[in-house]
Amino acid sequence: MIKTDILIIGAGPTGLFTVFEAGLLKLKCHLIDALPQPGGQCSEIYPKKPIYDIPAFPEVLAGDLVNNLMEQIKAFEPGFTLGERAQTIDKLDDGTFIVTTNKGTKHHAPVVAIAGGLGSFEPRKPPIANIANFEDKGVEYIIRDPELYRDKKVVIAGGGDSALDWSIFLADVASEVTLVHRRNEFRGALDSVDRVKELKDIGKINLITPAEIDQVNGNEKLESVLIRKNNEASEEILLEVDHFIPLFGLSPKLGPIADWGLEIEKNAIKVNNSLDYQTNIPGIYAIGDVNTYPGKLKLILCGFHEATLMCQSAYQRIFPDKKYVMKYTTVGGVTGFDGTKKEAPKAVVKAIN
Ligand SMILES: Cc1cc2nc3c(=O)[nH]c(=O)nc-3n(C[C@H](O)[C@H](O)[C@H](O)COP(=O)(O)OP(=O)(O)OC[C@H]3O[C@@H](n4cnc5c(N)ncnc54)[C@H](O)[C@@H]3O)c2cc1C
Repeated sequence: MIKTDILIIGAGPTGLFTVFEAGLLKLKCHLIDALPQPGGQCSEIYPKKPIYDIPAFPEVLAGDLVNNLMEQIKAFEPGFTLGERAQTIDKLDDGTFIVTTNKGTKHHAPVVAIAGGLGSFEPRKPPIANIANFEDKGVEYIIRDPELYRDKKVVIAGGGDSALDWSIFLADVASEVTLVHRRNEFRGALDSVDRVKELKDIGKINLITPAEIDQVNGNEKLESVLIRKNNEASEEILLEVDHFIPLFGLSPKLGPIADWGLEIEKNAIKVNNSLDYQTNIPGIYAIGDVNTYPGKLKLILCGFHEATLMCQSAYQRIFPDKKYVMKYTTVGGVTGFDGTKKEAPKAVVKAIN
């Protein structure tokens, strides 16, 4: 059982900044995210796009914003359960919560902050009847650890950046890489398309287009796939493989959180925005893109603001008898749980005092 003060569901920018604000109050955080990496939409959808409305950053790449947030919260030693979806929540008699993931990992905390954005990103699956039988037995929709594919025969399906980039990467890891796409044209970056063609020419990638995977076969685990070419003859190729990785993108779904008894409006969680972003269940807060209230804006800076106010309320819930006096970080500094202290330069402290 993982124990923490604030359990954060969603490691997007809002969830990450919550760790910082909680850390200033000496509250420890643990984050759960369905994705294998932190950063939410910024990492998953647009890491290389510049953002222009983060205060004091005239321009910052979404991926760099996430890296900066990770650096900012390092001293507060957050825990992470990545690649797992928060599935169920149980409220105990003492008012604390146990959140269990789809892989059975249990987390215990007095406060739960849902920072789930648009929802957990679920893979788009190909319409192959028995594919579920082989999930985690040779069929994977997200590449978590490329080493799993070392010296293995791998088929990747898809026409976007993920399919192209992973084919290129795995060409040096796997014993055999086959890329299957239903069209001859790819949607990904042009230089990646060129690289795949180069690797095809030197025999490091087997490129089959236009074609689709029609069947997956095996006993205990995946053993072969049937590829059907999208040509007049509907030519079939039976290929022996160890892994089939369909990379058709991820679509966000509010998912299991919608069944937790929270008030939901238009696929978002209703919160009390005049006070602390608490939901209809005391002790469960919702911050960032996942919540709704009159005038709500789905912007990163709004998520940061909501996280800040929510942490103050969480502190009072955890320590009802203590009074917290807010200090500017320029005055109080930032002392991490590892004892590191980032002091304000003396001149600034003097000016404020
Ligand atoms: C193309 C694009 C451009 C954008 N440009 C801007 C911009 O210029 N400025 C701006 O302010 N905003 C912009 N946004 C919006 C901004 O990205 C969002 O407001 C921001 O990401 C919200 O952060 P969040 O942490 O609340 O949620 P998210 O970033 O959505 O993160 C939520 C995380 O929660 C996880 N999650 C959800 N449910 C579960 C569950 N049950 N279990 C485990 N994990 C779960 C998800 O996997 C996800 O990683 C843009 C968005 C897009 C798509």
